[in-house]
Amino acid sequence: MNLSILDDFKEVVYSSAREEIRDLVEYNPGPMPEDVVRVSANENNLGVSPLALAFMTKALAQGNRYPDSTCTTLRCKLAELSGVLPDEVIVSNGLDGLFTMLGRAFLRKGDEVVTGELTFSVYADTASIMGAKNVLVPMRDDLSLDVEGFISAINDKTKLVFFCNPNNPSGSFASIEDVVRIVEATPKSTIFVLDEAYIDFADECVESGISLVKRFPNLLVCRTFSKLYGLAGLRVGWAVGNRELLRFLYKVREPYCVSYVATEGALGALSDVSYAKKTYDTNKEERVKLISALEGLQLEVFPSQTNFIFVFSDKAQKIRSALFEKGIVIRALSFRKKQALRISVGLPCENELLIKELRNIL
Ligand SMILES: *Cc1c(COP(=O)(O)O)cnc(C)c1O
Repeated sequence: MNLSILDDFKEVVYSSAREEIRDLVEYNPGPMPEDVVRVSANENNLGVSPLALAFMTKALAQGNRYPDSTCTTLRCKLAELSGVLPDEVIVSNGLDGLFTMLGRAFLRKGDEVVTGELTFSVYADTASIMGAKNVLVPMRDDLSLDVEGFISAINDKTKLVFFCNPNNPSGSFASIEDVVRIVEATPKSTIFVLDEAYIDFADECVESGISLVKRFPNLLVCRTFSKLYGLAGLRVGWAVGNRELLRFLYKVREPYCVSYVATEGALGALSDVSYAKKTYDTNKEERVKLISALEGLQLEVFPSQTNFIFVFSDKAQKIRSALFEKGIVIRALSFRKKQALRISVGLPCENELLIKELRNIL
């Protein structure tokens, strides 16, 4: 196409787009080569559960049919497992899809969205896409989310609070008492989003907020099948909340946002108790080993209640590139200008390889 026409159109489409999104940068995780050890995205490297795979294979034959719009079977199962009513559960196209619904339903220009300073990046994107302002609560020195900081950041302009427990990427956690303290200080007109994407990996000291939903109608507790349940590619998230709140999410979602194959995969994964147990046990054991090996390499390592480990190193960028050369992919990030790494806990052989290569590099 003629270059000047293209340039022209670039300007046209720029000014037709909503002002709030014109200068946003699109999410791009970059190319992922095949045949690498992937410990960058907190996936389950054990592969898809055999039961989930069997359920999904069977479901494929019904690909000509629209799925059940509200995922009734899966919703009922999740409600039963969580001790709530099916009406208090919503299933979404990944948790990311649920955050999109929240943004669409509740955020306007000028609203405030309170999040941790170092937390899951999609919260900030949810705010900026809708023209809302992201208010960051500074992390404590140990990189945990600051309870008092959240309480003082929440005001009448706050529409959403995103509290990630355990927190990605720091791996830290808050006690249920601390969660209650913040929710108690949150006005009923503010939705408190408690993101428990990693709670399936945590020790008993990390309690779920699901039982608090009856007490706090503005609390929404979020979970995903992408991490422990090994279905990141199928996109299934879910949340527990008051049915009056959920109604507003249903109003704005895509009518068939979760495919039948995905919901069947989720049901299969839920029934595969041994896969879930093996994942939990392996992760817990490997996390301890990996943390002590990383500490042995003089890195500043943080404790973790998740399937990843946060590390400060002034050589983080170099380490990431050097490992990439060796076919191991980890995540590099930064915090207050300090370079850092987030390393997912892989399979035992992957972790061994990672440590071996790290020793060579350092
Ligand atoms: C991975 C992740 C999610 C959600 O992932 P989906 O794949 O969209 O379900 C949500 N919150 C946190 C903190 C995560 O790390």
